[in-house]
Amino acid sequence: MPYLYAILAAVVILAAVLLGRTAAFRSRRYTVEPEPGIEIDVEKAAKRLSGAIKIPTITASDPKKADRAPFKQFTDYLEQAFPVAHKALEREIVNRYSLLYRWKGSDESLKPVLLMAHIDVVPVEEGTEQLWSYPPFSGEIAEGFVWGRGTMDIKNQIVLILEAVEYLLEEGFTPAGDIYLAFGHDEEVRGDEGALQIAKLLQSRGIELEYILDEGGAVTEGAMPGVDCPLAMVGIAEKGYADIKITAEGEAGHSSMPPQHTAAGMIGQAVAKLERKQRPARISPYLKEMLAYVGPEMGFGLRLVLANLWLFGPLFKLVFQRTRPGNALLRTTTAVTVLEGGKVPNVLPSKASAIINFRITPGETVDDLIAHVRGVVGDKIKVEAPTATEPSRISPVDGTGFKAIERAVYATFPRSIAVPYIVMGGTDAIRYEPVCEQIYRFTPMLVSTEDLDRMHGTNERLSLENLEWGTRFYMELIKRR
Ligand SMILES: [Zn+2]
Repeated sequence: MPYLYAILAAVVILAAVLLGRTAAFRSRRYTVEPEPGIEIDVEKAAKRLSGAIKIPTITASDPKKADRAPFKQFTDYLEQAFPVAHKALEREIVNRYSLLYRWKGSDESLKPVLLMAHIDVVPVEEGTEQLWSYPPFSGEIAEGFVWGRGTMDIKNQIVLILEAVEYLLEEGFTPAGDIYLAFGHDEEVRGDEGALQIAKLLQSRGIELEYILDEGGAVTEGAMPGVDCPLAMVGIAEKGYADIKITAEGEAGHSSMPPQHTAAGMIGQAVAKLERKQRPARISPYLKEMLAYVGPEMGFGLRLVLANLWLFGPLFKLVFQRTRPGNALLRTTTAVTVLEGGKVPNVLPSKASAIINFRITPGETVDDLIAHVRGVVGDKIKVEAPTATEPSRISPVDGTGFKAIERAVYATFPRSIAVPYIVMGGTDAIRYEPVCEQIYRFTPMLVSTEDLDRMHGTNERLSLENLEWGTRFYMELIKRR
């Protein structure tokens, strides 16, 4: 009998703890009254973006082969399209095609803020040109959108930043601290020539930045089951990247009397093992932050689970990893992408190889990953990492930068909630880690999740409303600091 009471008491206490924590799991959303309105000339903004799209600043994977004339043309275009900004701000051309602007603030004791984007765009995949409603470099303004490569990634961000700067200059506004603008010219091929050089330049001048805002998550509806409001996804970290090559060597010769395992067979087994032995799933700090913001917006059942991860963590991981986005948030992902073996059906290959693409979660390193691969495939197989980047640091959500972005989000997209998250792809922003503690990745545009597929895809386009919202977002951000 006393046992029964003890169990009953334990259940009551547990229920009280769970419910108490759920009740304390409150929405982080608040309202911000937007600054009383300057009228935004959307038509003018659309024309300026259209002009930027018409210049095909296409990235080439081999920088030596790139056509650089459009990049030079782009620099001139910005100068002519945004005369007010170019008169008031200092502009430096870095490494021939990247741009760094400085808008001098009134208070020299404040650390500068840096707003970023990039000039280059990905090419249009061969054979898909005909699928575009309007040619990808036409910059057509039609059906309430500006169309073309770069309207979402990310000439929109360049144009919107400059739009905001021009409106504020026309208002006679001077920022408190310096505002820098940096537009690199090779983000799509890692940013060695652009962002890295600008970051080094700032570092050589001893400049430390208060915070950085680069391209990143958008405001999307329906991105997460169980949440009704649009989510403004603000990247506080980005994953690392590694292409790991594994190679097996075997005996060449005729295939009529083969060994038990050919080189190709060994690679097949190694690949199967790597897919089976995934990196561990973890609720890392960035995921905790994300769930703390998004959880309170959900229904009671999910709220109960997310408020009590100390108890439901293992269950949460089990369920969450079944979806692809959930899996990618929980762990370093493993994707076998390239296989090479023999070329002739009746000849034993002397060599076979595979490339596995990993996206490394913060908290793990490239070395950890190589050790993992070696451990899994065994010592008969050679392991090398021809391309690898470490994951970024995780920027705080309680600092000045995240708060400023959050306020600007609420002033511009009032129905949404700002949510910290991790960017799966790489951005230029990581290059600035030596000069900045607070680095964020967000693009102020409200789009559907289907629309996001247009980035790097077909029929990339930006709605005219987004031109207005984006301009207001940057004005709010710069004004409220
Ligand atoms: Zn981009």
